[in-house]
Amino acid sequence: MSSVFTSFLDQEITYIKGVGPSKSNLLKAELGIETIRDLLTDYPIRYEDRTHFQKISEISHEGDVVQLRGTLTSLSQVGSGRKKRLVGRFRDDTGTVELVWFRSVKWLQDNLPTGHQYVLYGRVNLFRGKISMAHPEIELASKAMTAKTATFVPVYRSTERLGASGLDSRGRRKVMSNLFAMIRETDIPEHLPHYLIQKLHLPSLFESLLWIHFPSDNNLLRRAEKRLKFDEFFIIQMGIIKQYKNRQQQMQGYVFEKVGKHFNDFYNHHLSFELTSAQKRVLKEIRRDLKSGVQMNRLLQGDVGSGKTIVALMAMLISLDNGFQSGMMAPTEILAQQHFETVRTMLSGMGIRVGLLTGSIKGSARKEILRLTKLGEMHILIGTHALIQDNVYFHNLGMAIIDEQHRFGVAQRAQLWEKSRDLHPHILVMTATPIPRTLHMTMYGDLDVSIIDELPPARKPVLTQHKTEYHRPQIIKFMKEQIKHGRQIYVVYPLIEESEKLDLEDLNNGYERLLADFPKPQYQISVVHGRMKQEDKEFEMQRFVEAKTHIMVATTVIEVGVDVPNASVMIIENSERFGLSQLHQLRGRVGRGANQSYCVLMSSFKLTEEAKERLQTMVRTNDGFEIAEVDLRLRGPGTVGGTKQSGLPDLKIANLIKDGKILKTARQIARRILDKDPDLKLDMHVALRRYLTKYGNVEQDWSKIS
Ligand code: ADP
Ligand code: MG
Repeated sequence: MSSVFTSFLDQEITYIKGVGPSKSNLLKAELGIETIRDLLTDYPIRYEDRTHFQKISEISHEGDVVQLRGTLTSLSQVGSGRKKRLVGRFRDDTGTVELVWFRSVKWLQDNLPTGHQYVLYGRVNLFRGKISMAHPEIELASKAMTAKTATFVPVYRSTERLGASGLDSRGRRKVMSNLFAMIRETDIPEHLPHYLIQKLHLPSLFESLLWIHFPSDNNLLRRAEKRLKFDEFFIIQMGIIKQYKNRQQQMQGYVFEKVGKHFNDFYNHHLSFELTSAQKRVLKEIRRDLKSGVQMNRLLQGDVGSGKTIVALMAMLISLDNGFQSGMMAPTEILAQQHFETVRTMLSGMGIRVGLLTGSIKGSARKEILRLTKLGEMHILIGTHALIQDNVYFHNLGMAIIDEQHRFGVAQRAQLWEKSRDLHPHILVMTATPIPRTLHMTMYGDLDVSIIDELPPARKPVLTQHKTEYHRPQIIKFMKEQIKHGRQIYVVYPLIEESEKLDLEDLNNGYERLLADFPKPQYQISVVHGRMKQEDKEFEMQRFVEAKTHIMVATTVIEVGVDVPNASVMIIENSERFGLSQLHQLRGRVGRGANQSYCVLMSSFKLTEEAKERLQTMVRTNDGFEIAEVDLRLRGPGTVGGTKQSGLPDLKIANLIKDGKILKTARQIARRILDKDPDLKLDMHVALRRYLTKYGNVEQDWSKIS
């Protein structure tokens, strides 16, 4: 059946009985299924439990799917022509059900003798207390009891087009049973090492596939699931950890031996606050990397306001102490500008040259910055992706900081580390979008991670409330009080690209209303939205930063990073339209000063369950990691923190939310195996190596961060 050259699993599905060219094309077009392996790993989406029978008297809900056992008492044709149908009566010892078929009337009538015991399966209709079922599955009880499939029946995904060609769930089940009728155990070789199978009490790959499609009991189903989930995580982790190890071996880095004058001068004389212990710990981790001789690739996670900037700044000072330049990239011009101001202010009087390079810096000013950078006289260059443009040359870039990582593509990051002369610069990626641990083991498994899990002291948690239009007057009053106390306020509107025009209308209406409630000249309002020219945006932002305006009305352009400690109120309009992580980021804009801050989530009265849960979560907690977990649960892993672009592997059976424990085991074991046998040269790992070469994820580009 299978030759040495093509394995059975790689055969096309036309090979299976009952799957001709047209069905095979359809499966490919609709579900991307081409090979037998694809088919085998297109696991059932659920199972119907055929081990349990209901009583007719227990049926209480329209639309419930039930399984009954009883007698078919009558069966007859009713009507004629297009209205012709077959009607049967079915009873158990508690009641009766009417059965109706519109198709295959003749065949059914010939094959369903009355007076016998049947097993009936289908969806119930309830009408005026009468129970009926249309097109139920029906089978003689004697047969149903002996058939192997009479326990957990797999349900497969299907589409309208597939269904029309006989490949609904039932049709697909038939294909699977034809497939299993022709598979021999040797067609599906085992790739997990024997000792692992034994140690973890796993069924073989063949058994697992058989049981996942046709489980004869719940126990086998669970065991098959466990093995396949483990397998899926394990293969991914093998790739990630292998990548990580390669980098450790190959990516030589600059050795920053010294912590010298600049670092110490700053720490002792310029830093106006005590670092939190989390910040100190992270700095130690960074210093260890910088000394190691291996290029640093570190992800720094910390909630909004946890003080990542200062850590980055001090890492750049170490670079400087060792005679190297540093670069810092931010996703927006406003943010770059703000980092520039912060860094310049903090380093003032230290004789360190800090420059800003963004798209709007032009002409001779730009030339001068580029010249100094090339000469090495620019010590720290801060900017947007202008920094990675072709005509920017560093004398010796030793440290690259990337802020708000998820906005940068992998390719852009790669460009950045091409900027240094011989070795790649050390890289510190900062993100304020907390990533749940499971996700992060899967996505960033090849990065080292530092977490700042502590906020600077004396931060008062932001108080959050959910309000509707009904509370508007109360909120306006509250805003006026805050302004009277000298505070500033953000009012944010959603910006969703597809309906940008509508959003702008929302914002403009809101602005008009605010103008009426907060008349000039007593009150000043800034507006910033995506359609404005860059200069105008900057101008408006600047007015707010300098406290020349009281209220900043904006679309989400302020989402990332801006720091106005005097702002104490964040009002989010149409908050039900924001995702959780966005809401959390926005809220992080307030609560940065010494004053009590507030976040008001405005929404309409009618909310979907999911929107309700999002808003309730925001009201309940300020913990970014907890919020990320809820976000992951509500939206699925594909969308958290913009991970879509980052190449999250496509999981077929394992679940990042529910299977964290299995993932952890898989990761541990993968690490142990690669510690012992890095190139999988031992006999017991030959099959595994072959499998990984063929199906592994080694060259996923997200792992190129190394
Ligand atoms: P984020 O992690 O969101 O980038 P920032 O680095 O912008 O946070 O820090 C937020 C604010 O907290 C800044 O004003 C910063 O100066 C201040 N800050 C940072 N670390 C500390 C600390 N250890 N003690 C007091 N304030 C701090
Ligand atoms: Mg920041």
